[in-house]
Amino acid sequence: MTLKRNYFIISKWQSIYKCFSSRLFKNSFLIKLLDKLLGCMMVKYTELEEYRKQIHDINLKILSLLSERGYVEKKLHSIRENEGVINFDPIQEQMMLDLIVEKNEGPYSNQSIEQIFKEILKATLSLFEEDSQTLYVSRAKKSEDTVVSVNGELIGAGHPSFIFGPCSVESYEQTRKVAQAVKEKGLTFLRGGAFKPRTSPYDFQGLGLDGLKILKEVGTEFNLQIVSEIVSPDQLEFAIDYIDVIQIGARNMQNFELLKAAGRSRKPVLLKRGFAATIEEFLNAAEYIYSSGNHQIILCERGIRTFEKSTRNTLDITAVPILKRETHLPVIVDVTHSTGRKDLLLPAARAALAIGADGIMAEVHPNPKFAMSDAQQQMDLVEFDHFFKEIMDFSSGIIKKV
Ligand code: PEP
Ligand code: MN
Repeated sequence: MTLKRNYFIISKWQSIYKCFSSRLFKNSFLIKLLDKLLGCMMVKYTELEEYRKQIHDINLKILSLLSERGYVEKKLHSIRENEGVINFDPIQEQMMLDLIVEKNEGPYSNQSIEQIFKEILKATLSLFEEDSQTLYVSRAKKSEDTVVSVNGELIGAGHPSFIFGPCSVESYEQTRKVAQAVKEKGLTFLRGGAFKPRTSPYDFQGLGLDGLKILKEVGTEFNLQIVSEIVSPDQLEFAIDYIDVIQIGARNMQNFELLKAAGRSRKPVLLKRGFAATIEEFLNAAEYIYSSGNHQIILCERGIRTFEKSTRNTLDITAVPILKRETHLPVIVDVTHSTGRKDLLLPAARAALAIGADGIMAEVHPNPKFAMSDAQQQMDLVEFDHFFKEIMDFSSGIIKKV
């Protein structure tokens, strides 16, 4: 518009000039003055146009640099994504802004420069917004199943895995008896709680480090992989050498510092669903571990709290196929804590395998009546034999049908 207007004004002046430069006014003072005036205007006009063109060219250069910056950010993003590292690093971004402001030579104020670059950062984040809303643990991010390897013992590889053992480690003899029964069945995992997060502070809290030592000794004797619950990040530091799988219990599913600490470790994590957690919250808890660098995660459905009182919790059986569809992680079912009833262990385990679970967890104690925790629902060794025979028959039936 301005360009057009300028042309219009100049052409007007030119026609006036033509008129006055006729023979009549030739060499007159007026025509000389007009001549000078028009000359000045033409110089000004071309100067203006020149600056406008320069600004236009600079704009295009800025645009092309912005595009280049965006493509470099995309490359950086894909590397970080492969490493499972969180994309936005506020400390790094602030350092970058500080450096830019330091190099600012004007004429824009530091505040303006900072604002401009903050907008660039925002635009960069929005490049990955869609991506960042998709969890790393989701199928959308990784379509093939994750198979967790615990020192070579696979979970999620197509055959059911079994994790049995006492609720709490109470003594060497008690733990050894269960381990022996587990080994006799050709199984490879032993569970046992050394740190027990109990509802009442007056209930048995576990043997702690002594319990871990028992687990380690028995695990080494029978070559069993040890699964044991850890309840705090500092505990993880010394417990890690005694266990093969870090269990994070229902009560700690949203203990984010613990999730992050487990994420920094290189041991597989068995994450139990909180008893009041939605599947979305469960997946986000797993995402904490995954995005902190540990991709070896086993999800465990262990029942949720409902109004129903006939079972200890309500086994959310359809959570299994939902989790299998939404994530690439293996999913197992804890039939002991979900039902809280011995008579339901087998039907619940059958249902879990039939609906697609990758494994079963259940508690076994040589003398459940005298167990220090969960006395009601732990199987004794005879019940364990029967349970295992039945579930193996059932699972071989499923595998044949598949
Ligand atoms: C356990 O497995 O020992 C346990 C305490 O289970 P949950 O965290 O599911 O209650
Ligand atoms: Mn228990």
